[in-house]
Amino acid sequence: MKPTGKTPRRPPKKPSNNQKDPVGVYCRVRPLGAEDEECCIEVISNTTIQLHAPDGLKANRNGEFKETQYSFKKVFGIKTTQRELFADVAKPLVEDLIHCKNGLLFTYGVTGSGKTYTMTGSPGQGGLLPRSLDMIFNSIGPYQAKRYVFKPDDKNGMEVQNQVDALLDRQKRDSQTSVPKTPTTRRIDPEFADMISPEEACKAGEVDEDSSYSVFVSYIEIYNNYIYDLLEETPFDPIKPKPPQSKILREDQNHNMYVAGCTEVEVKSTEEAFEVFWRGQKKRRIANTQLNRESSRSHSVFIIKLAQAPLDADGDNVLQDKSQVNVSQLCLVDLAGSERTSRTRAEGNRLREAGNINQSLMTLRTCIEVLRENQMCGTNKMVPYRDSKVTHLFKNYFDGEGKVRMVVCVNPKADDYEETLLVMRFAEMTQEVEVARPVDRPICGFLTHRLEERGGPVDGESPTVLNQLLQSFHPLPPCEISGPNDDVTLPRLIDALEKRHKIRKLMVEEYNKTANMLKSVLQEQDSNLLSKENFIQEQRGRLGEKDKMIQNQKNEIDRLEKKSKMLEYKIDILQKTTNIYEEDKRSLQHELESREQRLQREMSEKRRMETRMQGIVTDAKLKWEKECERRVNAKQLEMQNKLWVKDEKLKQLKAIVTEGKTENRQPQRPSREKDKVPAKRSVSPSPVPSSLSSLEPIYNFSQTVRPDPHFPRPGSVSVASCISEWEQGVPHSRRQGSQSPPDSRKRAQGLPDSLRRRRGRCWAREVPVQPAEVDLEETGHWVSRTGPLVRPLHRRSHSAGGERWVDHKPTTNVDLDTVLQPNIPNAIKVNAPNEKALSKCDKYVLTHQEFASDGEIQTKLIKGEVFKTRGGGQAVQFTDIETLKQENPVAASRKRRSSETGPDGEPMERNWTNVETRCSVAVEMRAGSNLGPGYQHHGYPKRRKP
Ligand code: ADP
Ligand code: MG
Repeated sequence: MKPTGKTPRRPPKKPSNNQKDPVGVYCRVRPLGAEDEECCIEVISNTTIQLHAPDGLKANRNGEFKETQYSFKKVFGIKTTQRELFADVAKPLVEDLIHCKNGLLFTYGVTGSGKTYTMTGSPGQGGLLPRSLDMIFNSIGPYQAKRYVFKPDDKNGMEVQNQVDALLDRQKRDSQTSVPKTPTTRRIDPEFADMISPEEACKAGEVDEDSSYSVFVSYIEIYNNYIYDLLEETPFDPIKPKPPQSKILREDQNHNMYVAGCTEVEVKSTEEAFEVFWRGQKKRRIANTQLNRESSRSHSVFIIKLAQAPLDADGDNVLQDKSQVNVSQLCLVDLAGSERTSRTRAEGNRLREAGNINQSLMTLRTCIEVLRENQMCGTNKMVPYRDSKVTHLFKNYFDGEGKVRMVVCVNPKADDYEETLLVMRFAEMTQEVEVARPVDRPICGFLTHRLEERGGPVDGESPTVLNQLLQSFHPLPPCEISGPNDDVTLPRLIDALEKRHKIRKLMVEEYNKTANMLKSVLQEQDSNLLSKENFIQEQRGRLGEKDKMIQNQKNEIDRLEKKSKMLEYKIDILQKTTNIYEEDKRSLQHELESREQRLQREMSEKRRMETRMQGIVTDAKLKWEKECERRVNAKQLEMQNKLWVKDEKLKQLKAIVTEGKTENRQPQRPSREKDKVPAKRSVSPSPVPSSLSSLEPIYNFSQTVRPDPHFPRPGSVSVASCISEWEQGVPHSRRQGSQSPPDSRKRAQGLPDSLRRRRGRCWAREVPVQPAEVDLEETGHWVSRTGPLVRPLHRRSHSAGGERWVDHKPTTNVDLDTVLQPNIPNAIKVNAPNEKALSKCDKYVLTHQEFASDGEIQTKLIKGEVFKTRGGGQAVQFTDIETLKQENPVAASRKRRSSETGPDGEPMERNWTNVETRCSVAVEMRAGSNLGPGYQHHGYPKRRKP
């Protein structure tokens, strides 16, 4: 089969050359929008630009960003015209197209960097697209086939229609459109008028004049990874506009991609082609407005297909042979803005779209990366073309089906610096990708060749070369020898052969030279290969290291993650514990508050009580002071009276002695009447004259009264002395220094012998101490009575009632088997007197044991009253003694009576002393004392008789 019969897009099974070209990457710097804008790009040469980090960014990143340079196949500065750019970038591609080679040209850059301007241009400043179209039509203008001669097969191929069908189609079209036949009279849309001025017209160098050409254009948009046909004629429904239907990508039998069902419009002139483009452009704009899309987010692809087929033998019509039709295409792609999603400020649906758009560009980047890696490292990684529609559609280009060129558009403004940096990196990487140089397969040589080829299929290119070579030799002269004498033919032949031999020699030399050169080139290539392999090895080693590092870091991340989980768990526990403690704290605070409140209450209660107590104390103090005063006064009066009585008596005695010395020397018992006389004679004032006068007989009655200069002072009370006196029957007055209240002394004196205790088992009731005046008053009436004086029994009923007793039993006491035992109900039993017990009671009893004069143990219950002292302590005043004694009735006679009243009184004295020691004790304790320092002995020390 003839190679020309194949479409150039079919992957060559055995490419005749292994030459590769890098992807041509050009850079175009647009002028700044405003002159005062900060610029971050500088064009250094026509291949290099330099990026400067803007000042703000430098400050932010501590000057980490240095100035970086990037090189390109060519750099176009701000002053570059559209025409210059076209001449360098697109013109070769158009040439290729006309020579049956495919081409891909795309613009890449951030939004606003001039991609569309570069590709489409503006009125008067036509871009690459209109210029390409113009050049195509300028070149093939006269060789164009009639409309509908070529018919797309809706895949990638073209069919050739017969003339009749083509004619019918043309007639149909003419009847459908109201377009005037002559293009010159047609009004051109002002939007795209003047895209190319006629003087800038361009033309391809060589055009096969024996071929017939036809141009088809398609215009698609890839938005959100969906393909839309922008030239599809859809009936417009203003009420319910149909949303555009997306197209799918298919692969033909040659593994070339095509958009299934995509409209291909046959165009016959630049204007018509551009008009079609503009129609698509308008549709795109409308769709974007209707669907609220951003045009900068979509990729637009304008495909120019050039079909060419040889003319038939007559040179009038296209050869009706599909296999002879050659189709090449040029894709002009205006990519979406390369900026990251954040820059677009896209939200919601738009974000998703923007994400996909970026995804397409990401895929493009990844594909380029993998291609480069495969080429540099000799690997065979799969290139992920299928990951996006854009890369999938153009995968064949990168596999060596055509030239690939890219114009990187940059806006030098500083705001775009970071995005531009990314664009530069991508551009740099893309340049390193090499694409197989498309096999130069001219489908159409000159007419002679074509006719020659028609004779039969020729395999390969070598026969043609051989023929050409052979033709370059001079033909051999006729070598038929006319006769034996023909010495012309042979020398001519020899000459010719020699010439050929010379040529051969030259050729051999040339061949050897070329072979040597080739050899050295091969060697060079070998060494290159070797170094490349070394490099690859090195890279692999580095890769391994990096892999290890990544693994280590992954392990570290795992460990840290575990640790963080653990810490989270701990924090959780601590949180819970804190909560519990806080709960506890709250409840404790609550308790504390309630306790403080209680304390406050108690404190206020205490203060209240204190003030009350103070009131009571002052009351009691006043009362007692008054009482004391009263008693002192009474005592003074009494003393005065006594003195007076004594005086009187002395006077009487003196009178008796002086008057009746001879009559009677014995003292007479004064009569009651007599006694009353001095009272009447008394002139001393007496507050209680009646009671005092009634006392007089007592003293008289006793007959034991002796004038005593050491009259005891009032207030000094000795219970013990009284007890002793009573017991021993010794008059109180005999004891010098003994301090008993005068009233008690008087009472003791006044006691008749008959009333002295009978020996035997008995309780003797005595009242040794009574508060003077009270007793005087109380006893006043019975003193005046005649008859034996009987001490009234202690008012037991008083104590049995509400009174409380302190029952003091010293530990030294021995248990006696007496039938009668003191039993005081409701008493506090103590071994030694203490304040606490005393403060609670108002009565005190001491159980005292001692030897009686007859050697028997006798028990005495010495009673007293407890009252509060001024100092806040307690004092006991003894008031009464009860005696319990055991006696043998038989041995009663041998008891020494004298011992009780014995004149020497020694044993008595001892007992007395003992008792007094115990009984004259008044205990005073201050509040708060522990019976320590506050324990005071209020008894007066017994003064012995000298
Ligand atoms: P993009 O397609 O990359 O988003 P455009 O091509 O739409 O950017 O350019 C944005 C604006 O900048 C347009 O108004 C365009 O006319 C202007 N522009 C771009 N490049 C150039 C240039 N080289 N010279 C003059 N104006 C330009
Ligand atoms: Mg644009």
